[in-house]
Amino acid sequence: MVGEVQLMQSLKPSDHVVVVGAGLAGWRFVEAVRRDGFIGAITLVGDEPHLPYDRPPLSKQVLSGKWDVEKSSLATHELVAQHEVTLRLGVVASGLDVAATTVHLANGDALSATHVVVATGSRARIMEFSAGDHVHTLRNRDDVIALDAALSVLQTGDRVAIIGGGFIGAEAATAIQARGLVPIVFEAAPRPLINILGADVSSWLEGLSARVGVELRTDQRIADVVALEDGLVILMDDGSSLSVGVVIAGVGALVNDEWLATSGLTIDNGVVVDENLIAAPRVGAVGDVARFMWNSPLGMELVRIEHWQVANDHAAHLARYWTTGTPPEARLVPYFWSDQYGKKIQMLGHPAPSDEVLMVAGGLDQQKWLALYSREGVVTGVVALSQPRALMLSKRLLDETTSLDAALAQEPWVS
Ligand SMILES: Cc1cc2nc3c(=O)[nH]c(=O)nc-3n(C[C@H](O)[C@H](O)[C@H](O)COP(=O)(O)OP(=O)(O)OC[C@H]3O[C@@H](n4cnc5c(N)ncnc54)[C@H](O)[C@@H]3O)c2cc1C
Repeated sequence: MVGEVQLMQSLKPSDHVVVVGAGLAGWRFVEAVRRDGFIGAITLVGDEPHLPYDRPPLSKQVLSGKWDVEKSSLATHELVAQHEVTLRLGVVASGLDVAATTVHLANGDALSATHVVVATGSRARIMEFSAGDHVHTLRNRDDVIALDAALSVLQTGDRVAIIGGGFIGAEAATAIQARGLVPIVFEAAPRPLINILGADVSSWLEGLSARVGVELRTDQRIADVVALEDGLVILMDDGSSLSVGVVIAGVGALVNDEWLATSGLTIDNGVVVDENLIAAPRVGAVGDVARFMWNSPLGMELVRIEHWQVANDHAAHLARYWTTGTPPEARLVPYFWSDQYGKKIQMLGHPAPSDEVLMVAGGLDQQKWLALYSREGVVTGVVALSQPRALMLSKRLLDETTSLDAALAQEPWVS
């Protein structure tokens, strides 16, 4: 019965897939579904005016000035033509009629489809300060263009405040320093990344910024940011203040699911989908926007994960499922990396910050290490600092559920 239902949903040449969200997951779905043999119509809808592009380089190579922003492109007009995709860029999707698989656009148009992919991602969280738009965020190509313009008028040695010491904040600080400016990072928590990576790992990463001369102020509460004629002033809760040239806020992301509020889909911190990324018959969701049933080492878990690799894997999974009726066999193993303060942090799995952590290779003195996360005696994650080969060798600990004891006996990171 399940097989029959799936066959009815499988793609036929006469079908029309509307993909909403022309970012990484949306574009990767287009590539994957064509690779898997779908020859029907595809329409790609995006609210940004740009062809699909990649975000990780924005806070790294592009912001530091090493790459022109064009180099972050994922698709060219030639590639779009090759994939026979109708583009609807610069238009906002405002609603979805699930039963009719019809996407409504804010300009009044309606796109009638047989299948819909929701790939609307997430957006930067905005902090409400008096300085308003003078506080930059770092999510979109236009954000980095505006930020680059603001940084370009500063003099070498001028201060740039970065609110948030998480991944985006640390990468921005690294890039700002590479431009000859002086980043100062303000973090609300006692240590950066403590709420994501947990107490042990965040303490092992402590000092990375200081080693390269980036000032990090922890336990900081910012009361306001005020724009003056000659720059900005950060006002702290304790009454102190600091004048800076530019302010960047990197304080997390919000999921772009509001446009689906009346669709009838289950929306709960993202579009809730099953293990095959299905939200409703012939409606799927992929990437940052998808809250999906993940076959974790400890059983099924409902998760939403904002990682580049997850967006790729989701796109490939849904395309395969809709073209062949069978999902890929391999378990999805979330992968994340961040380049900050001259180091590469990499993580496999989706561990909780409260999981047990054991450093099993390298050491703090070498500034190179690999650690295992575990819960109930089962490996839930692997995190490494500048140990890329050892990390990838350890992936098999997550491909199959592995006990901590078995992992310690196997030591895959050593081979
Ligand atoms: C600066 C930066 C650096 C990053 N670095 C890393 C990294 O080093 N490692 C890592 O693993 N991950 C990184 N990430 C995360 C990674 O880029 C995301 O997980 C990935 O982009 C998710 O892809 P997506 O397609 O789901 O969403 P997005 O890339 O957000 O794309 C969604 C698209 O849909 C559009 N959209 C939204 N609503 C609508 C609507 N109603 N109608 C039409 N279009 C709409 C959006 O504007 C956007 O263009 C980084 C993210 C950022 C912002």
